[in-house]
Amino acid sequence: MRLTRRAGLRTLTQTALALALAPWAHAIQAPEVGRRWRYNPFALGIACGRPEPTALVLWTRLLVQEEDRQGVGDDPLTVTLEVFADEGLRRRVHTQTLATNAARAHSVHAVVSGLRPATDYWYRFRQGTAQSRVGHGRTAPAPDASVRALRFALASCQHYEQGQYTAHEALAGEDLDFVLFVGDYIYENSNAQYAIRPHNLPEAVTLAQYRERYALYKRDPLLQASHAAHPWVLMWDDHEVVNDYANDQDMRHTDPARVLQRRAAAYQAYFEHQPLRIGPEPHAPAHMRLHAQFPWGRLAEIWTLDCRQYRSPQACRDPVRGGGRMITQCDERLAPERSMLGAAQEDWLSAGLRASTRPWQLLAQSTQISSTRIPAPIDWAYWNDAWDGYPEARRRLLQTVHDLGRRSVVTLGGDVHMNVAANLRLEPNDPNAPIVASEFVTTSITSRGMGERALNLIRESNPDIRHARADERGYSRFLLTADQLRCDFQTTAFPAGSQAGFRTQASFGVLRDQPGVRSL
Ligand code: FE
Ligand code: CA
Repeated sequence: MRLTRRAGLRTLTQTALALALAPWAHAIQAPEVGRRWRYNPFALGIACGRPEPTALVLWTRLLVQEEDRQGVGDDPLTVTLEVFADEGLRRRVHTQTLATNAARAHSVHAVVSGLRPATDYWYRFRQGTAQSRVGHGRTAPAPDASVRALRFALASCQHYEQGQYTAHEALAGEDLDFVLFVGDYIYENSNAQYAIRPHNLPEAVTLAQYRERYALYKRDPLLQASHAAHPWVLMWDDHEVVNDYANDQDMRHTDPARVLQRRAAAYQAYFEHQPLRIGPEPHAPAHMRLHAQFPWGRLAEIWTLDCRQYRSPQACRDPVRGGGRMITQCDERLAPERSMLGAAQEDWLSAGLRASTRPWQLLAQSTQISSTRIPAPIDWAYWNDAWDGYPEARRRLLQTVHDLGRRSVVTLGGDVHMNVAANLRLEPNDPNAPIVASEFVTTSITSRGMGERALNLIRESNPDIRHARADERGYSRFLLTADQLRCDFQTTAFPAGSQAGFRTQASFGVLRDQPGVRSL
């Protein structure tokens, strides 16, 4: 459909309205035409957010270089979005003009509604003489549609310095409904020991520094290709703010009020760089709802869970260097009030699991649920930053799954930089306890994994873990049908070089109504 004059006028009216409603808009300006750019303002790429049956969130951020700054200043810029029904860009189905300004880092979040379910769309942005690349998105099936298959990939942990994003190049070539990214999209810190491609940015603390960090990561052409190829479903972990943070606590035992200030800056930058509908709460900017639940036709119910914003502090923290560590003989760890998700999110998840009417329940969250205990001189030692540090919260979750008779619950995680396929029992590693759910954890895109010696101890001490490999980088590819979930761990050696070839490290499956992972 061509943009008619009337539709054009309607678009203009909508722009004026949007500008008038936007709290940051000081003046209403007519959309400008023909701004001449010296540098491509779309250098950070484009992205499509979580697919809904009739809507997509489409994102870009204009990067305004010094030489192009004349006349931009703090004035709003307008960006035109076009959405097409064909890859050849001949059938335009939607045009929209959006305003942005420096207060939001010139980011653009367009919610395009009125689309058809389970349908492919292509989109691009324009500003003056500049045009973005073309992105692809596919809407979700209607909630009551019968769906033959869901294809998605699980990914996490892409430390820029520790490797090339060849996993994203491979991801871009997959046929997927979406990429499910479960955290550590950026790393606020630097690790000179494994600097394959060092950058000279200081640790990100301020809003300007977080923006600079995202701009560095987002400039990567392979990451851009992955975003352009598929919608992304997003969840964060710790490094989007600071290593091992827990709610308002960081590992340096910083004053919680200052941690929340930093968190507000980090959350704002996160929103500005991702295809999300909602950002930080306007009157409480350190708070931002990211957890969500959505159906995939009649096939599955999918949750994305926030394991950082609401969690209790790690148990038995070191008084000097807080955050994650191995702990042993720690009574605090067992306290029933300790929570990974926070009480409100736990209740919301339980209610959702109870109400679910679909055969599969997929719980995406940022870290590892199965135990990675290792022997200590007395008792066991546990990694206190993962669910091992929150054993009562883990028991509550699995008990809920068990009590509700849900037998096709699969959890999906990241954070630990290794591929894991595990059985989740009511009592971890107890052969007499029932297996109530299945777990897959994906290895990192680039971030280095633990050494073989430590991993061997984990393998020997945790019979519930059926597969654990920390030596390779990559992503995990999933195919869900009515009867089975298949997982292929797609990997390359560490560090991921620019010519990395990807192969299947191992494949596992879960059969419907039969909790537990099976080697394929
Ligand atoms: Fe990580
Ligand atoms: Ca992490």
